[in-house]
Amino acid sequence: MRIDIISAVPELLDSPLGHSIMKRAKERGLLEVVCHDLHDYGINRYNQIDDYQFGGGAGMVMMIEPIDNCISDLKKERDYEEVIYMSPDGELLNQQLCNQLSLTENMIILCGHYKGVDERVREHLITREISIGDYVLSGGELGAAVLVDALGRLIPGVLNNESSALFDSFQDDLIAPPVYTRPSNYNGWEVPPVLLSGHDANIESWRTEQSIQRTKERRPNLLKD
Ligand code: SAH
Repeated sequence: MRIDIISAVPELLDSPLGHSIMKRAKERGLLEVVCHDLHDYGINRYNQIDDYQFGGGAGMVMMIEPIDNCISDLKKERDYEEVIYMSPDGELLNQQLCNQLSLTENMIILCGHYKGVDERVREHLITREISIGDYVLSGGELGAAVLVDALGRLIPGVLNNESSALFDSFQDDLIAPPVYTRPSNYNGWEVPPVLLSGHDANIESWRTEQSIQRTKERRPNLLKD
């Protein structure tokens, strides 16, 4: 999978995408993430990328021309199935959407800043708008990092134990069961004995029960249909 991220502050993406599982995905050649600084596409001698909004009002708006030029350059190189704009009023990101998007070969993610982008970008250049939750961030970069992380770990071969993503919360509409590690007794706080029993079938059914119980308590909406 190749993901091109367009941002006015690409430095914000260095750390979240440069370590741990995302780093491994890149090293294994399974995920390529390329960040583009919108200032490289800025217009006039000031490399301008934003301007005051028509009609007046506080806050700068990202201009269409630099964004269009950047997206056009990328599209000359390859076909993109999705050009995503991170936006608080977009489709809410969930595991189902991540599963669907993880099958994409090439995608562009556009990060907004300030007041957001000129509406014509959204109307004409964007195929999909995604929100990471009903709150407002100051820029789309952290949202893009969340999206890339959630997608990257679904690519086969990225996680060491390939099957482990299948047992995470929200796959099969269930919350994951609790997990424990050594010591089995810490200050009198004990691990459920079944997990120490070595009886695989009992462990499996305990985990399933826990999953269902947790889902009922914490995300009953997942069980509705
Ligand atoms: N004025 C806009 C908010 C702009 S916030 C409004 O009220 O809707 C600046 C940028 O941060 C946005 O362009 C978007 O790219 C990003 N952003 C903010 N909140 C987000 C969220 N919940 N999910 C994804 N991106 C978000």
